Amino acid sequence: MEKVVIIGTGCAGLTAALYTARANLKPLVLTGTLPGGLLTTTSIVENYPGFPEGIDGSELMNRMQKQAERFGARVKFGTVEAADLSRQPFVLSVDGEKVETETLIIASGASHRHLGLESEHKLECKGVTFCATCDGALPMFRNMPLVVVGGGDSACEEAMYLTRFGSVVYLVHRRDTLRASKIMAQRTLAHEKVKPVWDSVVTEVLDVKQDQVTGVRLKNLRTQKESVLACAGVFVAIGHIPNTQLFKGIIDMDENGYIIPSKRTMTNIPGVFVAGDCSDHVYRQAVTAAGLGCAAAIDVERYLAARNE
Ligand SMILES: Cc1cc2nc3c(=O)[nH]c(=O)nc-3n(C[C@H](O)[C@H](O)[C@H](O)COP(=O)(O)OP(=O)(O)OC[C@H]3O[C@@H](n4cnc5c(N)ncnc54)[C@H](O)[C@@H]3O)c2cc1C
Repeated sequence: MEKVVIIGTGCAGLTAALYTARANLKPLVLTGTLPGGLLTTTSIVENYPGFPEGIDGSELMNRMQKQAERFGARVKFGTVEAADLSRQPFVLSVDGEKVETETLIIASGASHRHLGLESEHKLECKGVTFCATCDGALPMFRNMPLVVVGGGDSACEEAMYLTRFGSVVYLVHRRDTLRASKIMAQRTLAHEKVKPVWDSVVTEVLDVKQDQVTGVRLKNLRTQKESVLACAGVFVAIGHIPNTQLFKGIIDMDENGYIIPSKRTMTNIPGVFVAGDCSDHVYRQAVTAAGLGCAAAIDVERYLAARNE
């Protein structure tokens, strides 16, 4: 029987692993299908403290894993397919095998909603990105026209942030009004660098042949007319899907599937904790995920200590 199982090896999971390992809890850490988490899908990370020159995303995650393993964390390739949290110990089904555990940290992250275009996929990290805070300051986007796709608060935030770097920021939205909160929408549309492109969808990111983003092909949904807009970056901001479907109806979550902790990092089920982007739709950064992983680990340690008193 495990003392603690951690679902996920992103920044949240591996930081929780480091702390629980140093507390002698010998955590079992399950990778899921994306070992190292979302950060492995990016090249350079420039805002993780301690790396003044920036660091490659995969390299950072390798280092985090090694650091946790050094203190006894056991990282195992495996995906949790089902979880029985109705009694203690909890029982997880991991690739068909049963794993029993006293406590659980869910650090399963959130996936970005994609446009679903082949060109979007092919040009990811070559001008197509899903995070302005992460990538907006990269040299390739400086003083260049940029496109943000979306119409909610996140899209507005991304657009506003990008006005610091881009020459102009086109906000492409499928409707003729923004879905964002009124104040956010007003502020965004009032910015001199933001140019809305209404009633339009991106049908292709250009140019796969050149292996870099040079523009987008747009379709106006009212007129059905196609056009091309030149840009150096496409920031897709059409929402996230937290990887929490397994726990629907069992663990408290909001209408979008983000887990809502009851007390600090503990969920409504005593012994089950949460960390990182699967419970945070506000900050979504490596360093905040790591911070929450640390908090969850400390909460687990205290929970187990109190139980064994
Ligand atoms: C392209 C890109 C660039 C980014 N750049 C930056 C940046 O420069 N700076 C920054 O601060 N942030 C950046 N981010 C955001 C950052 O990656 C996330 O905030 C961070 O990874 C969240 O960490 P996490 O541990 O919560 O989740 P994730 O990193 O998403 O990790 C989730 C983990 O859970 C696992 N998992 C999911 N379901 C299961 C399951 N059922 N069983 C077992 N395991 C499971 C996954 O395999 C994965 O290992 C970027 C994101 C993207 C997509």
